Amino acid sequence: MRFPSQRSSADQILAEIERAQQADVDWRHGKVWSYVYFADGDLLALLERAYVAGLELNGMAAAAFPSLSRMEHEVLGMTADLLHAPNVAGSMTSGGSESIFLAVKSAREWARETKPHIHHPEIIVPYSAHPAFNKAGSYLDVRIVRVPVEESQRADVRAISERVNRNTIMIVGSAPSYPCGIIDPIAELAGVAAGAGLLFHVDACLGGFVLPFARTLGTNVPPFDFLVPGVTSMSADLHKYGYTAKGASVVLYRDNDLFRHQLFEFEDWNCGRYVVPNVTGTRPGGAITAAWAALQYLGEPGYRNLTARSLDATRRLLQGIRGIAGLRVLGDPQVNVFAFGSEVVPVQNIAAGMLDRGWILTGLLNPPSLHLTVTASHDAVVEGFLSDLREVVKAADLEATAWPDAYGYS
Ligand SMILES: *Cc1c(COP(=O)(O)O)cnc(C)c1O
Repeated sequence: MRFPSQRSSADQILAEIERAQQADVDWRHGKVWSYVYFADGDLLALLERAYVAGLELNGMAAAAFPSLSRMEHEVLGMTADLLHAPNVAGSMTSGGSESIFLAVKSAREWARETKPHIHHPEIIVPYSAHPAFNKAGSYLDVRIVRVPVEESQRADVRAISERVNRNTIMIVGSAPSYPCGIIDPIAELAGVAAGAGLLFHVDACLGGFVLPFARTLGTNVPPFDFLVPGVTSMSADLHKYGYTAKGASVVLYRDNDLFRHQLFEFEDWNCGRYVVPNVTGTRPGGAITAAWAALQYLGEPGYRNLTARSLDATRRLLQGIRGIAGLRVLGDPQVNVFAFGSEVVPVQNIAAGMLDRGWILTGLLNPPSLHLTVTASHDAVVEGFLSDLREVVKAADLEATAWPDAYGYS
């Protein structure tokens, strides 16, 4: 590919984008079970307009764009209210990975100040925790200790407490975990952390905008947010079950004293003092305007309704899958994320058969299984998915084949 020597027309370009996207998975019709969190066309139309309204604005420059600093502050306030944070201390970020990165960074700086004897800080996470913790640990030189989970796929409180040592600075639990959708025993883990004078982070990237509404719908949701004593920070992704445009997540802290460790301050250059709370410098204004718009547009009734639809779709999926001989659901998923394996058919053969029918699931290697993050828009495809799954399982080769290329495993 050479740098374009001539211009192309806008029409040509838009047609080419449309043509290129025909190869993408049909996310509008629920064909993909992760990556895209789609509610409905009405919300999408609003997000498109709200994102475009902020398209050229820079979220880094509060003085020039008070609209964005106000909206960011309101998004943080609304999320803090939802998750019972006693203070509005935190940031909007580009996504779950950045929220986690910043929580790890804050923990490291906090430990440097309050536990100066620690030279090799460690954070203990369950095996099911998102790789973003290891990514942050590798950038920030913090050791991430992964501890095996229970058979139920829940974090093992005793095993985690046994790994606490004089270098430990923080413990992590997920609500729920990405692989199997299991809510870790947050209160117990936070108790271990508090008892040892450590920080505790709840990764509610998936559950932050699901669990509060699932609870009002009658699902048995254990305490998982700032109401739990000992929870010191949380991450919650707006661009997942907040159903907003990509590039939006929140990291929150129990108090400003912990949040201040997140800031990067510098002044030894031409322009003097440069203080940013984020990893990024320039920040897309559209991600902020769209997130603010989604929260206002949906409000509690909207999120309750979307959560009800995704929980109902999940219930029907779980019932259908449990009724297919040889398949089994891992653990006891309480909300709308789960994984299933098979005692009979290698799961990659199921993945390949489903891919042939246009469905993209995520594969887990350990334990071998396929994972679904169920959104509101999936409620329309449950029966079609289950009937394809029944046929694929029945016809599948019992000899393990390679994972299909779309899965990126070799
Ligand atoms: C998605 C996810 C992350 C990472 O978020 P990104 O937005 O992909 O950076 C972290 N933790 C959990 C539980 C997640 O589901």
